[in-house]
Amino acid sequence: MSEPEIEPAPRSQELFARAQQVMPGGVSSPVRAYRAVGGSPRFIASAKGAHLRDVDGREYLDFVMSWGPLILGHAHPAVVAAVQAAAARGTSYGAPHEAEVELARLVTRSYPGLERVRFTSSGTEAAQSVIRLARGVTGRSRIVKFAGCYHGHADALLVEAGSGAATLGHPSSAGVPAEVAALTSVLPLDDDAALERFMAEHGREVAAVLIEPVPANHGLLLQRREFLAAVRRLCTRHGALLVFDEVISGFRVALGGAAELYDLRPDLAAFGKILGGGLPCGAFGGGAACMEQLAPNGPTYHAGTLSGNPLAMAAGLATIRALTDRSAYATLETRGARLERAVAAAVHEGGWPVRLVRQGSLFWFSFGGGEAVRRPDRIAPDAAARYARFFHGCLRRGVNLAPSAFEVGFLSLAHGEAEIDQAATVFAAALREAFAGEPR
Ligand SMILES: *Cc1c(COP(=O)(O)O)cnc(C)c1O
Repeated sequence: MSEPEIEPAPRSQELFARAQQVMPGGVSSPVRAYRAVGGSPRFIASAKGAHLRDVDGREYLDFVMSWGPLILGHAHPAVVAAVQAAAARGTSYGAPHEAEVELARLVTRSYPGLERVRFTSSGTEAAQSVIRLARGVTGRSRIVKFAGCYHGHADALLVEAGSGAATLGHPSSAGVPAEVAALTSVLPLDDDAALERFMAEHGREVAAVLIEPVPANHGLLLQRREFLAAVRRLCTRHGALLVFDEVISGFRVALGGAAELYDLRPDLAAFGKILGGGLPCGAFGGGAACMEQLAPNGPTYHAGTLSGNPLAMAAGLATIRALTDRSAYATLETRGARLERAVAAAVHEGGWPVRLVRQGSLFWFSFGGGEAVRRPDRIAPDAAARYARFFHGCLRRGVNLAPSAFEVGFLSLAHGEAEIDQAATVFAAALREAFAGEPR
């Protein structure tokens, strides 16, 4: 496979060189550094609606959308106005305020079974805190997660499977003590029997089973509802708490997240991304009995200087309010379906082994084609190299995708039919280029 054709971006490259002298890898979060696709990350000057503008003055139709939060689009007028008004009233109080209560009310009303929420400053913090709460409530220590699901970068969750599914986890990052990782067991997605066997043996040690019900951090690995229902059933049988990590799927696949989409209720759920409307924010929540175990009412500690920050609450409120008009999800579905149809037609015509996987406004190019991929070990081995060519083909044509084969694309309400059609044309041209010169 030939190398991707990379377009120069002089001002971005200059800034990136400077960034690398003062910031590790030149970035605040590793995937932004373009290591997986080659070339230099675009430095962004401004963003509006479905578009980004970089410091070289180029405009891009954006499908990263800050990795999920911006379901209304960049710089949505209602969000900008709410944040500006909130900032003028003070950026942080370190004391309770009304917008927190409002947002908590909206979230509890939107999400099935949720009676209480606690705000945090990120999805990572929400996932980390939900584990502590589950351990506090159950008096158990073991955590179960699934290979291919990401739950932020807390120590206990940066863990990958050992050789056998039921072995102790081992760290997937330096700096995570083996002793901490040993308390996390990693099981395969899409395998009801493996979970059943594991729980039969270790169920009584398990505080929580964490899952991204719509796994969207290692491709879009859509699960069978029966598998998710089996996870629910086995947690109940063994007294473990089921935690849905809805940091991406919450307010995205439906107002009530995956719990609404699949009609399944977790015991606890973690949120982030859309909840903060583009400002740093997360939350976790569940039934009252469980959540009241948190300090100050209960013995499990969680706190945060900027938790419930007024700007984040204002952005979150403006965003979720716009989504409570349920036509938002119908619109996103219509736009997603339009993109899916157009890409499927181009792929059929080109005969390329690739497939657009989609759930509502989430999409992923599954290179390798074939049947639905539900586990990371089923992704084609050359997917990343193929994607690098595809990615740069899109970027040169003014379409910004995530700089990694394993990240999903996000539609927003700012992506109208014209943007969808433009994207479909660009995707087809970039796919043709990515597969050029190869036998079908
Ligand atoms: C993004 C993400 C997180 C982490 O959230 P941050 O705000 O980046 O800390 C956790 N879980 C899932 C499913 C995510 O997609």
